[in-house]
Amino acid sequence: MPHRLAVVVPTPAHSSIGGRLSYLSELPLLPGALVRVPLGRREVLGVVWEPAAEVGAGPDAFESKPIAGSLDGIDRLSANWRQLVTFSANYYQRSLGEVALAGLPPQLRDLSAQQLARRLKRPDALSEPQATAAPLPLTVEQGEALAALAADDGPFLLFGATGSGKTEVYLQAAQRLLASEPQAQVLVMVPEINLTPQLQERFIARFGEDNVVAMNSGMTPPQRLKSWLAAHSAAARIVLGTRMSVFASMPRLRLIVVDEEHDPSYKQQEGARYSARDLAVYRGKLEGAKVLLGSATPSLESWQACEKGRYQRLVMASRVGQAETGGTAGAFPAVRLVDMNLQPKKTVFSPQLLDAIQQRIARGEQSLVFLNRRGYAPVLACTACDWKSECPNCSAYRVFHKIDRTLRCHHCGYTERVPRACPVCGNVDIAPVGRGTERLEEHLGELLADVKQANGEPVRIARMDADSTRLKGALEQQLARMHAGDVDVLVGTQMVTKGHDFRRITLVAAINPDSALFSSDFRAPERLFGLLMQAAGRAGRDAAQAGASEMWVQTWHPQHPLFANLRKHDYPAFAAQQLREREQAGMPPFGFQALLRAEARTQEAAQAFLNAASTAAQELDGADRVTLYSAVPMSVQRVANVERAQLLVESASRGALQRFLAAWQPVLQATREKGLIRWAVDVDPLVI
Ligand code: ADP
Ligand code: ZN
Ligand code: ZN
Repeated sequence: MPHRLAVVVPTPAHSSIGGRLSYLSELPLLPGALVRVPLGRREVLGVVWEPAAEVGAGPDAFESKPIAGSLDGIDRLSANWRQLVTFSANYYQRSLGEVALAGLPPQLRDLSAQQLARRLKRPDALSEPQATAAPLPLTVEQGEALAALAADDGPFLLFGATGSGKTEVYLQAAQRLLASEPQAQVLVMVPEINLTPQLQERFIARFGEDNVVAMNSGMTPPQRLKSWLAAHSAAARIVLGTRMSVFASMPRLRLIVVDEEHDPSYKQQEGARYSARDLAVYRGKLEGAKVLLGSATPSLESWQACEKGRYQRLVMASRVGQAETGGTAGAFPAVRLVDMNLQPKKTVFSPQLLDAIQQRIARGEQSLVFLNRRGYAPVLACTACDWKSECPNCSAYRVFHKIDRTLRCHHCGYTERVPRACPVCGNVDIAPVGRGTERLEEHLGELLADVKQANGEPVRIARMDADSTRLKGALEQQLARMHAGDVDVLVGTQMVTKGHDFRRITLVAAINPDSALFSSDFRAPERLFGLLMQAAGRAGRDAAQAGASEMWVQTWHPQHPLFANLRKHDYPAFAAQQLREREQAGMPPFGFQALLRAEARTQEAAQAFLNAASTAAQELDGADRVTLYSAVPMSVQRVANVERAQLLVESASRGALQRFLAAWQPVLQATREKGLIRWAVDVDPLVI
């Protein structure tokens, strides 16, 4: 007697079948079992989602196709994992199948049964941890944080200054857990792949190689499968990963750490646009795992959750090695603001800053200079006519990269050689406008051409950004040079400001951070403050040099209140001020938002779809509890010849917004518009 199975299969985002299809199986497979099933002309991986029902002899016995096979050697996915997927799909308005299958390694689908069987040969028993590094003796603050973590359920926000030793808290929290529950598993999330190697080394040194696996999009499919199987079979006790790892199958998960929890890269920006940080909190509650969020500049969402008592705040205010020397203020780099209004026209590096950098070079210390724009110049322009290096496919300029004399669009990737002469008027005098890291590096090289190190050798300037680190291994190489002291001044994008434990830097400079001060994006000040605090955190990490460390900010608006709090390293004051503004404006975390985005052949079609959806929404139950704004073009309105527009939905209640979005979904699916290419809902969007 065959059984009917409800199987979740990879389906398009908004397909009306919701990702669940009916198949027949001789065996009554249980929910969570992995199967291969026919779908159209393909065979795909699927997950059994509901208990099997026996099929009678009636006509419906023949409607469904039989499954093609089941992946017997692999344990079933847990009810908790399925619930996490269900919640994510509902909350972020995507299909179950899309979310479920995105959470599984692609090779599960591609390997034959025999190939899989070979990979499944498990180690006989959990190997004893082969640690090579002992835990550090804790600072008082670390000890207190760990004690508080043990005493309560959380979720916890570890508000720890840069250099306060948050990583050691993560390590020892994991260690204590594994000591009391040897089978337990720990998930540690980091915002960027770049930051994983250093952290992975520390975890491996503490817990042994076999117990730690990585999970991120930079891994090859076989590596991902291996990590996934190790986590799923609970052979690996610690999973270190980027946002995707929040969906890792970990049957004995007891602790989730989200390092740098404020980082925007926890938000997925395509497909199911989930926030891995928020899902971590949900998952912790679901599975009874403790959740520990960590940051020196927490997201205002998490900060507010502490204010309301929903999260428990653990504070580590001082840097390791400096608590004894008194107050916290002196332990952090002094902030120096340079008023660019007082500088000669076209100044890039103020003389004061240049002088301070030269002093560092003379003393054999390192400086870090950052600018949030890569390439040589953001625009190339003709000096005789109006021509600028516009991208033919996007409403954006192509960036001039001098190193290979190309114009590259950072939105669609369209790349061309720089023309010899203006394509419009033939003038050969075309000039770069503005400045990116490549030009900054070149300019600094000219300014410091005659400066020598203490040993008489020329100054060593290096650059680190997405361009310089494109090749495999390049990033590691550049970081190693930095750590070895083979670089005097490092120029880079915000990439260099995050997380790295550089020991020799005593000066950090932000060249031009002003655009964020007056951005239309209400989160821009939060991001800028976080960025500057993180950047400042790269300076003076070696306690011996902390006193002489400085954070320089060149700005046209030195009176801006954001800088007053930066000078005092006062994140709580900054947060309080921002939260007051947000509350008055009903912005998150006091209000809740979703965006409906549309892409179409023309801007009119994109907006027409949004406006039609908005009109239809007025009829829905619960529409009175949300505010729908008008459709507007996105800030970069055209990318790769596709026009983009969006419509903001707001509500004072998360529940009301969720109920509205659920009711709206079928309406959106039924709304047709000629020229529409695709649409998507972004719940809790980070950029509006
Ligand atoms: P954070 O992530 O909070 O910025 P880290 O975890 O990188 O700080 O720690 C800063 C530095 O302090 C690291 O070099 C780390 O090895 C060191 N450190 C952390 N805890 C201790 C401790 N208890 N004793 C000695 N050194 C420590
Ligand atoms: Zn011209
Ligand atoms: Zn383009």
